[in-house]
Amino acid sequence: MVNRKLLTDVHIAQNCAIARALTRRYAVALMLVAALSTSAWFSLRLVIAEQQSTAAIVNVSGRQRMLSQRTALFANLLAMTPPPGRPAIRSQLQEAVDLMERSHRGLTRGDPAMGLPAGHSPKVHAMYFDAGGGVDAQVAAYIQAVRQLLQLSDEGLTADNPLLLQITRTAPTRLVAALDAMVKQYQAEGEANVRRVETTETALWLLTLALLALEAGLIFQPFVRHINRVVGKLQQATGELQLHRDHLEELVRQRTEELQSKSAELAESMEKFRLISSAAQDAIVIIGKDAEVVHWNRAAEQLFGYSEAEALGRNLHEMIVPAPMRDFARAGYQKFEQTGQGIMIGKTIQASSLRKGGDEFPIELSISAVKLQNSWHALSIIRDVTKRKGIEDTLRRNEEQLRFVLEGAELGFWDWNIRTGEVLRNSRWAEMLGYSHDEIRHTTQQWTDFVHPDDREQAWQSILDVIEGRSPAHKLEYRMLHKDGSIRWILDQAKVMQRDAAGKPIRMSGTHSDITERKRLEAELTRQARTDHLTGVSSRGYFMEQAEQELASALRYRNPLAMLMMDIDFFKQVNDIHGHKAGDAVLKKLADVCRETLREADIIGRMGGEEFAVLLPQTDKGNAIDAAERLKEALGKARVPLDGAMPLSFTVSIGVAALSAGDDSVDALLNRADQALYRAKHSGRNRVCVAAAE
Ligand code: GH3
Ligand code: MG
Ligand code: MG
Repeated sequence: MVNRKLLTDVHIAQNCAIARALTRRYAVALMLVAALSTSAWFSLRLVIAEQQSTAAIVNVSGRQRMLSQRTALFANLLAMTPPPGRPAIRSQLQEAVDLMERSHRGLTRGDPAMGLPAGHSPKVHAMYFDAGGGVDAQVAAYIQAVRQLLQLSDEGLTADNPLLLQITRTAPTRLVAALDAMVKQYQAEGEANVRRVETTETALWLLTLALLALEAGLIFQPFVRHINRVVGKLQQATGELQLHRDHLEELVRQRTEELQSKSAELAESMEKFRLISSAAQDAIVIIGKDAEVVHWNRAAEQLFGYSEAEALGRNLHEMIVPAPMRDFARAGYQKFEQTGQGIMIGKTIQASSLRKGGDEFPIELSISAVKLQNSWHALSIIRDVTKRKGIEDTLRRNEEQLRFVLEGAELGFWDWNIRTGEVLRNSRWAEMLGYSHDEIRHTTQQWTDFVHPDDREQAWQSILDVIEGRSPAHKLEYRMLHKDGSIRWILDQAKVMQRDAAGKPIRMSGTHSDITERKRLEAELTRQARTDHLTGVSSRGYFMEQAEQELASALRYRNPLAMLMMDIDFFKQVNDIHGHKAGDAVLKKLADVCRETLREADIIGRMGGEEFAVLLPQTDKGNAIDAAERLKEALGKARVPLDGAMPLSFTVSIGVAALSAGDDSVDALLNRADQALYRAKHSGRNRVCVAAAE
């Protein structure tokens, strides 16, 4: 594009230089032609002047010849005429001689009135003024003779007057001949002059033709060439222009199509907006400069009581904003008009508004900033929330009642807004953990922090199961940390209370009840159920429970396992001789010695009366026999102190059974140990017997 423009500029400069050169040459040619025409005109003038002057000279010279004869005639007539007729002739003679003298002066010295030139050619000059015979002297002498004759009186004027004789003799002969010669000379010179002018004229004509030919060659031809070039370029430029015009037309067509489709889109979107706006349940109001209403939909008409015609162009704040809020609204809008920003923009707020007639009612208001025709407008969507307000008030009252009930029931209450993460809790919720309501943060994180680290995962999982639809309700007992460092057992029960349109939970509420009494009792009961009250070893039930687990593990990992059955020898006698209390003391001593002698992993159970079982995990037959012997020895050495008597000693019989291939239950193992014990008793007591493998 730039190169193209440069080239065009160069072309224009060249064309200008050529045009200037051509103009210069043309001007020179025109001047030449003008000069030639002027010189031709001058030479023509010269010829005419020459012709005129020659004609005048020839004419006057001829007249001189005639006058010389006439004067001679009048002079003779005067002499021959009687005196009374003489004056008329004298006058005629006088006149003729005057004219002759004047003509002569004109011929020799020039007379413009008669068209006679002052100068002469050398030849003419010589003929006039030659010393001793020049025409000038002859004519002067003649005129003088005529004038002297005229001076004579009538008496003196006779036919034989010498003057008359001189006149009569001179005039027709010598004088006329001289004058004829002059005329001839004049004619010859005139013709020569005309011939010279003719030659000059021919030369000038030829020169003009030559210059015109030169002009044609030097100016016209380059001019034609240049014109051809210019025409060529003009054609090229016309072609380019046509192309350019076609391109422009195409562009204009495309732009027109775009504009048409844009305006169709615009019309469609305006129609859509009109439809939406008129079908909307909420009032849609747009205000522009100075808060004047520019759009007011049907819902706005119904809500505020102003028709569209009444509302358009009116200040919105004066129409619907309650008086106490008006200044605030005005100031806010002024700022908004300049910046497009404001504290109400982009938010949904609760406010109150005025109906036509002055009724005040609650509204929900959302304002957005929109730019129309390059200035900020506020688009408000307004909803009457009178009904909802009523519902909300009832709800709030119900919630308050619920809170009273919950607090009366000593229940902690929580209400979780899943979208915001905010959790509302009552005071009891916090107090259960030793905090005041103000001390806790109302977040899910606060709850997570309070839950015992070991229970956190399970507690969250239970809640997620409900939120993600795997479980209908959350009900879980878990531990929470009390402010004083102790642990509280909490029963947490919750349900989803609200879902969005898609069914996704958005609100979940639940209660906390502190079950720490109950939990302690349960633990105590369990402990009691598991432990033999007198000896502290496992109860029969718990021993069996543990034995089942050990057996399963031993079978799975093919580990050895052994069972001892133990019974005190002649225990009836202890009771009988020393009393039941001493019997109990023996039982306690036995348990203590067992715990001291056996490994930590060995499980001791009281199976009933004074019968005990010991399960030895990871123990084969040989090791089990060793353990049984060691135990029998230790028990035999044990002494039970008695009030006011010697310490009591006792012995036991023990049956040993090592796990063998046929043992598929704890009972099977126990039976075999029992049989071995039976043999120990019957073979003398205070001994260890081993059950044979199945
Ligand atoms: P044996 O050598 O054959 O075992 O003789 P024994 O006297 O020990 O006979 P047996 O095992 O049948 O006796 C069990 C006695 O244990 C009966 C009961 O009085 C006594 N006994 C059972 N439980 C207790 C208890 O809790 N305390 C006391 N003091 N005695 C108990
Ligand atoms: Mg017994
Ligand atoms: Mg016994």
